[in-house]
This record gives sequence, structure tokens and C-alpha cells, in this order.
Amino acid sequence: MKDHTLDDTVLADLTALRRDLHAHPELGFEEHRTSEIVAHRLEAAGLEVTRGLGGTGVVGTLRRGTGNRAILLRADMDALAMPEATSLPHASRSPGKMHACGHDGHTVMLLGAAEALAATGGFSGTVHFVFQPAEEGRGGGAAMVADGFFDRFPVEAAYGLHNMPGLDLGMIAAVEGPQLASSDSWKVVFRGIGSHGAKPHQGRDAVTAAGIFLGQVHSIVAREIDPLQPAVVSACALQAGDFAALNVIPDTVRVGGTARAYSPEVRNQLEEAIGRHARGVAAGFGIVADYHFTRRIPPVVNASATTVLAQNAVRKHLGETHLRTTFPASTAGDDFAEFGCRVPGCYVWLGMGETRPNGQHHNTNYDFNDACIPYGVAFWCAVVREELG
Ligand SMILES: [Zn+2]
Ligand SMILES: [Zn+2]
Repeated sequence: MKDHTLDDTVLADLTALRRDLHAHPELGFEEHRTSEIVAHRLEAAGLEVTRGLGGTGVVGTLRRGTGNRAILLRADMDALAMPEATSLPHASRSPGKMHACGHDGHTVMLLGAAEALAATGGFSGTVHFVFQPAEEGRGGGAAMVADGFFDRFPVEAAYGLHNMPGLDLGMIAAVEGPQLASSDSWKVVFRGIGSHGAKPHQGRDAVTAAGIFLGQVHSIVAREIDPLQPAVVSACALQAGDFAALNVIPDTVRVGGTARAYSPEVRNQLEEAIGRHARGVAAGFGIVADYHFTRRIPPVVNASATTVLAQNAVRKHLGETHLRTTFPASTAGDDFAEFGCRVPGCYVWLGMGETRPNGQHHNTNYDFNDACIPYGVAFWCAVVREELG
């Protein structure tokens, strides 16, 4: 008998809560109802609870024994601003808001683990259960860090989990190295001197400079980044001039785009290189380029020791057949990276089994599969027992 069985009444309770959260989705930094439910249940289970960290974030702290090591386990609580089309009895009751990424399930599985560990112990040390707001592009992880998370809750390791439709039910993919890309944005403003379209020699042409830059910027990935390292630079917005004034060369041209990488080194290279090309082209035209690179989400890169620990936790407590040590990296991002880039971390995928029709993440037909709740709870408990056993 392995550890991934939950008492029937516990499973029924967690399933009911998951469906309740699904029916009442809240967007990033608006998770007032959700975080209140979480905080209330953590308190009822006997944990020390910190509310309002990074807005609507909640941290539940559980100490047992004399061990002086501390770790964090993180779940996200927010929903997406999109309609739901599942027609399920527990479908969203808030038009235009939907738990289409399964963060309702993440919240419930971590809460279930906190309640189970509070009841049974079996470890020596401190576990901080982190319920993070605003994972979906609104910066909840960064907000918790800026609010002093690591000063108030020093930890030696960070663990995260995300459901994965299509991966076999109850399978845990714990893979060393890059898992999710960084997601950053950049903007360049070419500042020239506008002129009559018939008299370009009287000005300094920012439009032609921007055109040269748009071609040249793709040489960064092709010629500067290690060919064995994934990287993306895309220009996604371009703004200049006026189609009602086709005899006017404008003063300025704005260009913006995204940059993605799987390693901190490549991320740094992209930031430096895009600006260098912009300024270099501008200098060639005798104009200036204002450059801004905004770091939005770091890459999620699983450290070796924490990954091995997570793998061993699965082997011992769920069984070897529940472990996958290879799984493709994703081009999406997850701001678990805000924790996992500051201490050694491991972010795993939890298999949800076959998807509903069109039931992939961020689809209007997505629903979290409650059948994977016992495996998620078991994984969290297993990590704590491995780390602090
Ligand atoms: Zn998502
Ligand atoms: Zn998600």
C-alpha cells in the first residue's frame, strides 16, 4: 500500500472545496474569498497564518520537532479573465472569470497536505505553505518577495507543482534543469528628426532606422546565442507616423516585443543585445534610441539536489511507476520562478490523465480533474517527509 490514498471523507471534503473554488473564481490580487477560506482552514488545522502578504497572499507555517531546516511549498490561487463553457454543475458563477489553469486544484491539494501534515506530523522542521496570488501574468510571486517573504520566512528549498492534462493520472514528472521559459518584454523608441517626406535630407529618419533594426534584431538568436540554447526574440508592436499624412516623416518610431529564454545567462544576453543593436542602428543614422527591457518572469530551472529529492519522494511514497524523470520543457512561464530562482527549487508536473474535449490549459472547456487530488496531496506530504524526515 502506497501513500496516495485519502480517507473517503477527506477526499469528499477536498473535492467539494475544489468545486466551490471553481464556481467562485477570482482574478489576480482579487482572491479575497479564496484566501480567506484558505487562511481560515489553515488556522483551524493549527498552523500559524500570515495573511495579506503581497496583497492577497497567505502563508501557513507548520513547525514540528527540533529540526532547524525550513522549506516552502507553493500553490497559486488565481483564475483567468475568460468565459467558461464547460456547463458543469460547478461551472463559474462569475461571468468572464474562470479557473482554466487548475489553480483551484493546486490550492486544494496544498491545503489538504497542510491539514494532513498538521494531523500526522512525521517530520522535524518548518514548512511554509505558500498560497500565492496572481500567477497569471500579474506578478503575485514578485509581490510576495517584495513584501519581504524571504526575510520573514527564510527557507532552504522551494517546491512547486502544476497539473498537466494528458500526462497519465497520478504521474509526477520531476525533471532537472529548465522547465519553463522566462517571459520578458522590451521597447525601443527611435528618436530622429521629422521632416517633409520629399526632403528627407533635412531630417534624421527614424523610420528607416527602425526598419533596419527589425531585420537586424533576429541576428541575435541566429548569431549570438549558443545554437544549443533555446531563445526567442520577437518584435510584436510597431507604431509611427500617420496614414493621413503620407508626406510626413515622423520624429519617433516605437518598437516593442517579447524575449524568452531558459537560462539566466541567455536571458542576460538577450537584454544586452537587443539594446546594443537598437543603439548601434540609431548611432548609424545619427539619431538616438531609448531602450527599456522589463523583466517579467524568470525561467523556472529545477536545481539538481531538490529534483533528486522530489524524485526520491515519489519513489518512496507513491511508487516508481508514478515517476517520470523526463518531460518536455514548456514555452509558457510560471512565477514560481520568483521563489525557485532565490533558493534551490523543483517544480513538478502532476498528471491529470486524459483531457476533456478541448480541455487544455486556458481553454473554455478546461476543468481540473479531482481524481488527481490524492496524488497531489501525497506528493506534498512525501516531499516534506523526504526534506525534513
Ligand atoms: Zn495558466
Ligand atoms: Zn497555471
